Amino acid sequence: MPDELIYLDHAATTPVDPRVREAMHEYFADEFGNPSSVHRFGQRADAAVEASRQRIASILNCSPQEIIFTGCGSESDNLALRGAALAARMKQGKNHLVVSAVEHDAVLRTAEQLRDHYDFKLDIIPVNATGMVQPEQLEKSIRSETAVVSIIYANNEIGTINPIQEIAALCRQRGVLFHTDAVQAASQLPLDVTDLGVDLLSLGAHKFYGPKGVGVLYRRSGVPLEPILTGGGQEHGLRAGTHNVAYIVGMAAALAITEQERDQHNARFARLRDLLLEEIPRRIGGTHLTGHPTQRLSNHASFAFEGVDGNAMLAALDLAGFACSSGSACKTGDPEPSSVLLALGLSSELALGSLRITVGRNTTEVQIEQLLASLPEIVERMRAAQAVPS
Ligand SMILES: *Cc1c(COP(=O)(O)O)cnc(C)c1O
Repeated sequence: MPDELIYLDHAATTPVDPRVREAMHEYFADEFGNPSSVHRFGQRADAAVEASRQRIASILNCSPQEIIFTGCGSESDNLALRGAALAARMKQGKNHLVVSAVEHDAVLRTAEQLRDHYDFKLDIIPVNATGMVQPEQLEKSIRSETAVVSIIYANNEIGTINPIQEIAALCRQRGVLFHTDAVQAASQLPLDVTDLGVDLLSLGAHKFYGPKGVGVLYRRSGVPLEPILTGGGQEHGLRAGTHNVAYIVGMAAALAITEQERDQHNARFARLRDLLLEEIPRRIGGTHLTGHPTQRLSNHASFAFEGVDGNAMLAALDLAGFACSSGSACKTGDPEPSSVLLALGLSSELALGSLRITVGRNTTEVQIEQLLASLPEIVERMRAAQAVPS
């Protein structure tokens, strides 16, 4: 058993990079001004927010006016979907939305609320067995009343990367706004919004070694958006509330580091991931890979084991010194099988035996070897426990 708890849940959150902590520090101390204030405390805070906006815009290859700071990735998703849907209905009478069956709950629950309580029509399009959205499927569901399409860039539970450029081009051709949830993708995949061709893109800092509780919504210039948090005129009147200056500064620093080091980390992540993808099915019978075998996030390995209770397995792994996940951090303690795994065509029973292992910047090969050495015995033990009639 390893001496320390080994963290293999980087899809749930990442540790704050020490350089990011350092960049934030003074904004928790002397530089406490409100960016909206006229005096010099305010001016300095405002300068920090605007420099961060500039920094993020240059990484996304957009103009600073197209960056909206939000309170988290979920809020960015909410503002994109609800804000664009309400604006499109008011301005153009459009009332139809399309999302995929493998969206994060921040998108899916928002879409369902718009359907159930705000009178929108909603299509939830299926994915193939690897969890990938098929552009042909999307094409069939787009109508003249379609206001917004929202498709996740890379899935948090199964790691599958969607063909976002192709989907964005299709939406543009059909005159439909396209949003992508890039919260999980951000630390590994390119984020050039012009290249991707998206109208709206969501980010959350804590998935790329920044602080929790701060996010970005990229909104292409001219895309109509109705604010969902109303009040002061911050963020071009699209998101009221005094800026969290320290976290915004930290998010910009974290994204700059991510952009600069992405290729280097990806290469190392992929080696560790491939070890997991190869060795776990080899060492443990009755293992199914979930998600795409190759078109997946570089740090992401996910499986479903036959005859295993996933939550019991996570508890056993924790006792053995490994912090892993069953998929979405939001579903912990929920005995329902994941809707993402069901959308791949897995049975409920198999979906309840899921395991997600996501490596990060501090993960070592020794740690992966330790997990590979411990996991077969743990799965065997879980299977024996499952087999005992109660
Ligand atoms: C983590 C995550 C979110 C939510 O972001 P928060 O900042 O935690 O609100 C949304 N979508 C995806 C794909 C995620 O991985």
